[in-house]
Amino acid sequence: MLLSTLAAASLAIPSDPAALERALASVNPLGICADVRFLASDELEGRDTPSQGLRLAARYLRARLERLGFQPAGDAGYFDLYELLESGLDAEASGVALLAGEGETALVLGRDYVTYGTSARELEGAVVYVGLGSAEDLRALDLRGRWALTLDEVNARDREAWRAWNERVERVRATGALGILTAPVPGSASAAERDERLARAARGALEPRLRLPEPPGGDDERRERGPDFPTLTLASTVAHTLLGPGPTPAVGQELALRVRERRRPRAEERLVLENVAGLWPGSDPELAREVLVLTAHYDHVGKSGGEIYNGADDNGSGTAALLAVAEALRAHGPLRRSVLLLWVSGEEKGLLGSRAWTRAPTLPETHRAVVNLNVDMVGRNAPERLLVTPSAKLGDYNGLTRLAERLAPLEGFPELGAADEYWRRSDHVNFAEELGIPVAFLFAGEHEDYHRPGDDADKIDCDKVKRVARLLVRMLDGLQADELDL
Ligand SMILES: [Zn+2]
Repeated sequence: MLLSTLAAASLAIPSDPAALERALASVNPLGICADVRFLASDELEGRDTPSQGLRLAARYLRARLERLGFQPAGDAGYFDLYELLESGLDAEASGVALLAGEGETALVLGRDYVTYGTSARELEGAVVYVGLGSAEDLRALDLRGRWALTLDEVNARDREAWRAWNERVERVRATGALGILTAPVPGSASAAERDERLARAARGALEPRLRLPEPPGGDDERRERGPDFPTLTLASTVAHTLLGPGPTPAVGQELALRVRERRRPRAEERLVLENVAGLWPGSDPELAREVLVLTAHYDHVGKSGGEIYNGADDNGSGTAALLAVAEALRAHGPLRRSVLLLWVSGEEKGLLGSRAWTRAPTLPETHRAVVNLNVDMVGRNAPERLLVTPSAKLGDYNGLTRLAERLAPLEGFPELGAADEYWRRSDHVNFAEELGIPVAFLFAGEHEDYHRPGDDADKIDCDKVKRVARLLVRMLDGLQADELDL
């Protein structure tokens, strides 16, 4: 008895067991289900960045922080406002024309062809058929000022196929060609499949691009990379028009038409987005300056093809888990260190909200972030399945992960799997890279509804989300020693 009391005292002086029990008991699966149902309701239209649905979700989170007595921790109350630049193609002013004699056929971007990138360009030239673009075929050709028309096989775009394709592009580029036109192999049975892929790609190509303004003195990676080699992927109907009804042309043969492509960007727009931030101040005058940051992204991918992508698991689940932690903290009272609950937007557009925050953290001047725990997609798959990164296999493996591994069995996760292939795919990576602090990412794995309209609230295992929230509470409680050795 005495011995164990001593051991406990020397180990974990700062923990308040009664407060921890109150906090854990407050986490309620019905409340979590209710939150997920709201966040994943059709009325929020998939919480795209930016969208009205996203703004509504932010106000829901703010109201909860307010009523629980959290301190506003953004630069505008509970909101951390950040700027994004939106660029895209001017679809009206962009297009391709097939010029034959006096005639001109207009091709519509997104319907008849697809191209990537948004920089302005205007290219016109004759078209030379290069077949499969083998090294042997291309060696003898001088394509300066002309388009190379090449056949793309439909087969799966696996790594090997990509490598071969990129090599072909390089060979064509070396001939001095204006760019590449791609067409399906004539008579190929999988032309329909290719057109379907093209339609999907077209939606992506026409979508606006969002990026953070570069910090002063920063390099713009996009500019560094330089202009891509122009590639126009033609729909099969267009390819037929181009190749004509006759036999396939010989490699090196010039077709009886010219192709003109015009690409015009839209004027860049400035948008203001919101992260939501609430601070639960610590009780220790010194340690309260060390802030434990919990994150979950609250955005999703919006609507597409007339369907709403509700994102109940991605990331209604993590968003609701943090709301449950907010209530648990209220039940607990202050910890020694401060806790920041931070819901970020723009994750699905490239981890933008978390990058904005980590570049300009909205903490009191005396405070600094010391760890980040991030949760994303924790409401599906087997009840005991929970993954973590960085695992022991990664160089960034740290005391935070070890703490998660130690505490997870108490919440019905006997052994944490590794999620290391997701190291770069959620917001924690910005905390590791921009702030250089230890991070851990909890994730329950992908499933058949990942980034599909079927990611709905009725499929969420709310008891599982509850256990993840409780694990987070246990981890916060485990991070209260005088010194953090992570
Ligand atoms: Zn996600």
